[in-house]
Amino acid sequence: MTPARDPRIAIVGAGLGGLTCARVLQQHGRSVTVFEREASADARPQGGSLDMHADTGQAALRSAGLLDRFHALARPEGDEWRVLDFATGALLAQQGPTPGGGRPEIDRGQLRGLLLDSLTAGTVRWDRAVSKVAPQSDGTCLVLFDDGAAEEFDLVVGADGAWSRVRPALSSAAPHYTGVTFVETGFDQCDTRHPDLARLVGNGSMLAKGVGRSLVAQRNSNGHIRAYIAFREPQDWHAAAGVDLGDEQAVEAHLLRMFDGWDESLRYILRSSDSGFVNRSLFVLPAPHTWEHVPGVTLLGDAAHLMPPVGLGANLAMLDGSDLAHALVAEAGLGDAVRAYESIMLPRSIEAATGSAQGLDHLVPATAS
Ligand SMILES: Cc1cc2nc3c(=O)[nH]c(=O)nc-3n(C[C@H](O)[C@H](O)[C@H](O)COP(=O)(O)OP(=O)(O)OC[C@H]3O[C@@H](n4cnc5c(N)ncnc54)[C@H](O)[C@@H]3O)c2cc1C
Repeated sequence: MTPARDPRIAIVGAGLGGLTCARVLQQHGRSVTVFEREASADARPQGGSLDMHADTGQAALRSAGLLDRFHALARPEGDEWRVLDFATGALLAQQGPTPGGGRPEIDRGQLRGLLLDSLTAGTVRWDRAVSKVAPQSDGTCLVLFDDGAAEEFDLVVGADGAWSRVRPALSSAAPHYTGVTFVETGFDQCDTRHPDLARLVGNGSMLAKGVGRSLVAQRNSNGHIRAYIAFREPQDWHAAAGVDLGDEQAVEAHLLRMFDGWDESLRYILRSSDSGFVNRSLFVLPAPHTWEHVPGVTLLGDAAHLMPPVGLGANLAMLDGSDLAHALVAEAGLGDAVRAYESIMLPRSIEAATGSAQGLDHLVPATAS
């Protein structure tokens, strides 16, 4: 049975999507609890720079009443893009910066901090890993935690990312490997310690690509450059090559072999890291990914539509969060609200997933164009 007022809403996951949803709900006087498996807000570094698009990420921030605070932190000049020739390092193309700011960049940690600070104290319950959810025949949903505890809610929102524990309540879909791996690395105080790389990257991002190999580097705040060494190889590339991922020198030597024939100004990214290497195999959900409506539970963000990281995922997660919250505020019944949200979000995500798959092919081409 759906209650007439003050429904008990739980969001699983304090990522950008879940936090945006919680913020918009609270702005409209709704109570909500967010369960997050990490122990605290700063349990781990949050990752790189995100560009916020006007019609998705920025629209969500506007509806959350946070657009001004976003602009105070963002780097509008960061939307500059450069494409370099992999063999010579020469500049092939440059876009931006967009006058007036097109897609301002912000560090993911800053954006998450902005959303966390906007919530009522105690909204996020840290160190609460969810093991599964169980929709009940009366339309409520049980949340079961890793420690064996359980709590009942009228609506559970799975905002718990790629490996969602909520998703199995709606769909049997599971992420699969795209065939592309990003090895992440970073450079500190780039203008003084890595001035040649800083010049190559400029104010925003730089891309160089060959067949099955790409290098992407992006300026973050505080003079940090984050780079993704991207390649099309089996997921176990390191095991097949006998490379221990914990052995930085072995990883570096192997990457240098992979990028043989690339200009030395670009190979600098492989041999001068300040932060070591983090192996990130890229996974996606099958597209289209949809489900039949189930009372008491829904999904947003990567939990609903994990797609290649070509600049849309965080933006869409935030828009999902905002759209779901607005539907919950506008509709009298929870079921109608969730159906209204899913009827917008699912078609939108199918279109975005198709575009993102093409985007990954463009970013790391499988063949010479
Ligand atoms: C290398 C890389 C670069 C990217 N660059 C961009 C970009 O430039 N622009 C862009 O828009 N997108 C980008 N993305 C995509 C973006 O990161 C995701 O789409 C976005 O973070 C999804 O947000 P989310 O809130 O759905 O999930 P997440 O950000 O994954 O948040 C999920 C949260 O749920 C928590 N959680 C997980 N499981 C549980 C559990 N069982 N119990 C409780 N809590 C749990 C997690 O700890 C996390 O806090 C990139 C992705 C990658 C991998």
